[in-house]
Amino acid sequence: TSSAAEEVISPSVQVSYTKLLIDGNFVDAASGKTFPTLDPRTGEVIAHVAEGDAEDINRAVKAARKAFDEGPWPKMTAYERSRVMLRFADLVEKHSEELAALESWDNGKTYEQALTAEIPMVARLFRYYAGWADKIHGLTVPADGNYHVQTLHEPIGVAGQIIPWNFPLLMFAWKVGPALACGNTIVLKTAEQTPLTAFYVGKLFLEAGLPPGVLNMVSGFGATAGASLASHMDVDKLAFTGSTDTGKVILGLAANSNLKPVTLELGGKSPFIVFEDADIDKAVELAHFALFFNQGQCCCAGSRTYVHEKVYDEFVEKAKARALKRVVGDPFKKGIEQGPQIDSKQFEKVMKYIRSGVESNATLECGGGQVGDKGYFIQPTVFSNVKDDMLIAQDEIFGPVQSILKFSDVDEVIKRANDTRYGLAAGVFTKSLDTANRVSRALKAGTVWVNCFDVFDAAIPFGGYKMSGNGREKGIYSLNNYLQVKAVVTPLNNPAW
Ligand code: ADP
Repeated sequence: TSSAAEEVISPSVQVSYTKLLIDGNFVDAASGKTFPTLDPRTGEVIAHVAEGDAEDINRAVKAARKAFDEGPWPKMTAYERSRVMLRFADLVEKHSEELAALESWDNGKTYEQALTAEIPMVARLFRYYAGWADKIHGLTVPADGNYHVQTLHEPIGVAGQIIPWNFPLLMFAWKVGPALACGNTIVLKTAEQTPLTAFYVGKLFLEAGLPPGVLNMVSGFGATAGASLASHMDVDKLAFTGSTDTGKVILGLAANSNLKPVTLELGGKSPFIVFEDADIDKAVELAHFALFFNQGQCCCAGSRTYVHEKVYDEFVEKAKARALKRVVGDPFKKGIEQGPQIDSKQFEKVMKYIRSGVESNATLECGGGQVGDKGYFIQPTVFSNVKDDMLIAQDEIFGPVQSILKFSDVDEVIKRANDTRYGLAAGVFTKSLDTANRVSRALKAGTVWVNCFDVFDAAIPFGGYKMSGNGREKGIYSLNNYLQVKAVVTPLNNPAW
């Protein structure tokens, strides 16, 4: 008899779309080249996908430029654009099982997570931005002198968007939703590890009535396709999510080409602070979720767990027990909480940090090794007695490795939490309103979750302080990234007339 954990819960899915989406057609790369995308459970090839490079980016930008300059997209009424996005959201829901299965296969995340969290968030986000499309408008501005002054909020033009592999469809949504709502056209480069679901939803967008050339998608590598997009002279705006190192490169490429404005959502080393008055069981569970969610592959992962000295020992014991209970296995099976890391490169990187933790004399409470002998599964790992100057407390590990640090008072923990080059997110766990207010105002982070973590409603802005990036995605704030403001100034009662 097979246990519940052996039950396969995903539909079988085929890879139907493996070509670049340019001007409404699925096409081969100009070079004819392809590259394999791998199954993180085994390292085996799922499919070969078109490998776009500079020439394909050129073709895609040309199509996007034409669709922007000649229409129909920016010339359609905002209501019509909104309707296309709403129809798309319906199609995402209709195909949610295939999409979740494809996402799980290409990325290694659990099918249940993709199906119940991510795909619904994608549909919700497009509905949210569909709601904005016909509510974007300028102002009339009182100015000194006898002038009628108005601002027009215009789409910025062709948006270049480069996304990572950890949440392929959700990152697609965060980028594409606001850009379309504002009337832009798009060239999006998918991550080389996870090209499959974007093409699938590209097909759904065409079915929803998105005109050709409005959304173009190129799969390929960063140094070729990505760099050509970032340095393209005819791309008006660039949005990037990925590592801080690559963010620096991208900013340089944008600056050295046409100075296109760039929004960056980069790495993090987010503190998760547990005060002595917190409900320890809940704090343990939430800290576990904050770190281990999505195999630890979250830019905002709560990767520095600060625990007050009075509850430290109890917390460590319980955090260890929780990690030992975490169910690791085939993401297509029921009850699995953790699948494989995305690829061998990330696997090796995480293992290197685990070795570094041991060498720097942090206490390895549990885990630390590979699970099984194929694919990229890693044991849920907990370190206690972690010190701020250890590498595992400073670098983004991007894997299932929890680091627990001890603190003794509020001022000290605020200072230590802020002593990082990153500033993406933070968690504060306390029953005291005063502590919550004080700490959330003092933390230099784009999001502070109080007694919760990883709440990603479409309306909540997300982005970083310091080297975690600039600009905000989601919510009303993301619209600014995709709009130009034009001031139109007209004299009133001009005496010359
Ligand atoms: P990771 O190291 O986790 O793969 P990256 O930041 O390198 O993260 O990748 C995120 C995205 O950035 C991917 O789509 C990748 O192809 C792209 N990318 C990587 N290097 C460059 C580059 N030099 N120029 C443009 N895009 C890049």
